[in-house]
This record gives sequence, C-alpha cells and structure tokens, in this order.
Amino acid sequence: MNRPSVLISGAGVAGPTLAWWLVRAGVAVTVVERAQDLRSSGSPVDVRGPALQVAEQMGIVSRLRESGTRVRAVQLVDDAGRRLARIPTASRRDVDRQVEIPRGVLASVLYEAARDDAEFLFDESVVALDQDAGGVEAVFEHAAPRRFDSVIGADGLHSAVRRMAFGPEGDFLRHMGLYVATVFLAESTAATTDDVLLHNRPGRALAVHPVLGRPGAAFMFRSPAVPGFDHRDTAQHRRLLVAAYAGGGWRTPELLDRACTTDDLYFDAVAEVRMAEWSIGRIGLLGDAAAAASFLGDGSSLAMVGAVTLAEELAASPGDPATALRRYEARHRRRTDPVQRAAVRGSRLLIPATAGGILARNAAARLWSAVGGAAQALLPRQAAPAGAG
Ligand SMILES: Cc1cc2nc3c(=O)[nH]c(=O)nc-3n(C[C@H](O)[C@H](O)[C@H](O)COP(=O)(O)OP(=O)(O)OC[C@H]3O[C@@H](n4cnc5c(N)ncnc54)[C@H](O)[C@@H]3O)c2cc1C
Repeated sequence: MNRPSVLISGAGVAGPTLAWWLVRAGVAVTVVERAQDLRSSGSPVDVRGPALQVAEQMGIVSRLRESGTRVRAVQLVDDAGRRLARIPTASRRDVDRQVEIPRGVLASVLYEAARDDAEFLFDESVVALDQDAGGVEAVFEHAAPRRFDSVIGADGLHSAVRRMAFGPEGDFLRHMGLYVATVFLAESTAATTDDVLLHNRPGRALAVHPVLGRPGAAFMFRSPAVPGFDHRDTAQHRRLLVAAYAGGGWRTPELLDRACTTDDLYFDAVAEVRMAEWSIGRIGLLGDAAAAASFLGDGSSLAMVGAVTLAEELAASPGDPATALRRYEARHRRRTDPVQRAAVRGSRLLIPATAGGILARNAAARLWSAVGGAAQALLPRQAAPAGAG
C-alpha cells in the first residue's frame, strides 16, 4: 500500500514541526518554502509549556537553549534612558519551562530536525490547488504538478493556501490597530544589558532586545489600517516609521536611521486571523495561517502544539483527511481562542495610547516590581500558555 502523502506550504515554525511528526507516523511529506533560505528574523519568540515538551520529544531542547536569550527583565526607560521601573519577566521556575529564542533560529533548528526525512523545496510556492474525491492536485511555481492526499497551509499570516482555498485575506485578517517593525542592530551584545529596554510615547513603543550576538530593535505603534498598505513595500514601511517616530526621545533617532538604511527590515500590520473553519475537504490550515493571535500571543508555541495535534489526527485517519482536519480543529481551537482574546488586553499595556496611560502603566509596573511580581501580569508576550489536551 502507498504511504499517505501530505504537501505542506511554509517552512516557518509550524511547517517543519508538522513534517517531523508526520514522517514518524509513516507519511510521505513534501514542504515548499517561498524564501530561498530560512530568513533570519531577530524578533525573539517563546517556546514554552506544552511546546517545550514537543521540543523535548523532538530532541532539540539543548539546541534551543544554546541559542536562547538570557532576558530576565524589562526595564522601562525615559527620554534620557533613565530606568523608571524594572520588571522581572521570568521566575527561576519559569526559566526551566521556557526558552526565548530568535524566531529565525527556531525555524532553522526545526528545519534541521526534519530535513533528512521530508522533502524540502526552497524558492518554491503552490500557485493552484484542485481537489477531488481522491486527492489534491498541486500546481507549483517551478516544479511539475503533483498529486497529494492532503495539503496543509503553514504559510503564515499572508497564507497563499488560505487565499487559494478560502478566498482573499481581507475576509479573514482583522487589523488590530497596530504596526510592528523589527531590525537588527550593528553592535554586539557585549556592551549592553541582558534586560529588554522599553521606551514609550503615547501610542508608540520602542524596545531594544539583547538577542544573543546581535541585539534587535522593535517599533510598535498604534495606527488605524493604512489604505493601500502592502507588507512587501519597504519604501512605504520606512515612510510610515518616520511619520510615527520622528522627534521621539531616547535612542529613537539612531534606531530610526538604522531602520531606514538596513536591508533586513521586517514590517507588518498586527493582525488576527479569524476563520469560521480551518479546512475545506483535504486542504487545511495550521499556525498563523489558521489563527494568528498577532505578535502579542503565543504564536510559535501554539504553532508547534497544533502541528502535533494535526499529525496525530492525520495518522489516526490516513484514508480520511477531511475528518482528521476537522478533529484537529476541534481540539486545537480550545487553545487558540483564549490566546486571541488575551492579545487585545496585552497591547493596551505594552503601548498605552495616551500620556496618562503611560504614567498609570509605569506606576503599576513600579508597584508590581516592588512586591516581586513578574512581568507576566503586565506584559502581553507572556499571555496565556498553550494548554495541552
Ligand atoms: C515581531 C513579532 C514578535 C513575535 N513574538 C512572539 C513571541 O514572543 N512569542 C510567540 O510565541 N510568538 C511570537 N510571534 C509570532 C510567531 O512568530 C508566529 O506566530 C509563528 O512564527 C507562527 O508560525 P507559522 O509557522 O504559522 O508562521 P511563520 O513562522 O510566519 O512561517 C510561515 C512560513 O511560510 C512561508 N511562506 C509564506 N508564503 C508562502 C508561500 N506562498 N509559499 C511557500 N511558503 C510561504 C514564509 O516564508 C515562512 O517561512 C511574533 C511575531 C512577530 C512578527
């Protein structure tokens, strides 16, 4: 009997995790990735809770810890760089249960774990999908068309599989009133602190994160959806950043200059993906493509845990992928729904909209750190854990 075959679009966090687990369930896996190689994004993400257990089962935790950051606190700073409050981000116990790691490094480690057993095609995309009762015909940008038992879109916020199977992304993406940009800095971390430094103006946040080897800066600002916004138009992104940050204090001029000159600027609208259903027949969605919770959520951890659930269900019903996809959705939505709700609350604390809001947040932070609280209660990136089950 032929092995069941699955095509995965996207080699970010969700795609290689799914590939690793499917191969071990006896499935033939092909992964297509649009990028020529794995992109190096400096923004750190958390692997924690059940996702750390997934990493343990994959045998990659020591690799993740080697590249993990050593951030233990967030310092709120004023225009002159003076510390206003310092909030521990993780207790000693938390440190054992999570790894904070640059997103690009996480994707690379997952890819290295999966690449020997699955077929990976870089610089490749699916351009058309046509399903019938027996399978899905996939047309590629470069390779010859091929037939698969099922197709999974793990191709992120701007998923091409979602567009082809479900319709235009405007039907599913909900702008959350924020834009985010990240950029690497030229300096090494040797001279800097292990704390994240966070500076605010009303509706604007600027953070410097001591990613190992090469720190990163993150710009996060409030704005209604910009008409004609294009997540691939770097010139437009630079104009938006300058308009939002010009005249700002602390390290704003230097970091803005860096954003306007680097060739590695990441910029996107912060958006949620909300869909009534994550699958149509044999075509399904995973990770940000199905249920992005914006950068304020637990996107990477959820993507990894969801991949295992999907692999389990596809392995349990090899002849009936449509049923497997529905079962995976029923189980995994219980994890994504609460995280999407928490993201809205979190953005108010990270980027207060008014001067009064900043003062109130800072006062709460001082009080909180004085009584020994950790930032989980104040800062959104540590929102609800991705529960098991
Ligand atoms: C600034 C920022 C900070 C974040 N912070 C955190 C955090 O602290 N904690 C956390 O858990 N999460 C965080 N996230 C979210 C996290 O990065 C994502 O939720 C997570 O990476 C989702 O994984 P994914 O595999 O679904 O998507 P992605 O990692 O985005 O991967 C999608 C992949 O698909 C590829 N692709 C796209 N289109 C195509 C196509 N047409 N054909 C083939 N391939 C394609 C892309 O190149 C990419 O490799 C953050 C995100 C951002 C932007």
